[in-house]
Amino acid sequence: MDPDLKERLRFYQELGIGDFYRQEPAPAEAAPPEALPARSGLRRPTEPAAGPAPPRPHAAGGPPSKPAFVPGPAIDDLFRATAPRETLEAIRADLGDCRRCKLHPGRNTIVFGSGNPKAGVVFVGEGPGAEEDAQGLPFVGRAGQLLTEMINNSAAKLNVPLRREQVYICNVLKCRPPANRTPEKDECDACLPFLLRQLDAIRPRVIVALGATAARALLDTSEAMAKLRGRWFEFRGARLLVTYHPAYLLRDPSKKREAWEDMQMLLGFLYPRET
Ligand code: URA
Repeated sequence: MDPDLKERLRFYQELGIGDFYRQEPAPAEAAPPEALPARSGLRRPTEPAAGPAPPRPHAAGGPPSKPAFVPGPAIDDLFRATAPRETLEAIRADLGDCRRCKLHPGRNTIVFGSGNPKAGVVFVGEGPGAEEDAQGLPFVGRAGQLLTEMINNSAAKLNVPLRREQVYICNVLKCRPPANRTPEKDECDACLPFLLRQLDAIRPRVIVALGATAARALLDTSEAMAKLRGRWFEFRGARLLVTYHPAYLLRDPSKKREAWEDMQMLLGFLYPRET
């Protein structure tokens, strides 16, 4: 058997997916559909659905039934949507040889982010690990490998044209915390403005917060992952989805099934199908 196919089957098996069927390819148009008008397409969980139902993912099993959208912190979407954008290069230049927090003496490299500057989706992790610190690139270690699988294999399973190279990936922190400890508040506070500028520069349709650190920093909350995961939030004119961090999935593979459901939500939104 083709080693790539074998690897994918192993991945699906870990998610508990045993059924395979032939599905028509998604429309060749890889670009996501029209952006929703800021705010107007998003509704509170308690509001009745007006207009067409939210897009449904298109894999067997269906998504978890969760409240549809949850408003995030106050936003000025219209202003942002029409404001001139900074470039990622300008933001990186402004970051410079950053010494804004206590992490700088221990880092090897600043890990700014990588991927498509016009991505429809941005994945935000916690902070660089040893491998990322050595290479200067986000998610290149074991957790990164799993993130690549989550993106590529979920897209392949749902027959939609998304690959890791097409998304943008970055972290809340740009410098590795010592021994990969959890980032501290002052470190997140120092880095967050740069992350927000990156997101505003890319202006993706969806931001995926990987794990509690990213979710809490972006949504400015201290809620538990159990409350945040698998839900849509409104965020600076985009939608934000919270899912598990791949490093957590490596420690607890039983959670991969829920992460797979989150990927279905993401891809179902980006590539809606006629029912
Ligand atoms: N974990 C993260 O949160 N980010 C990385 O870039 C790598 C591991």
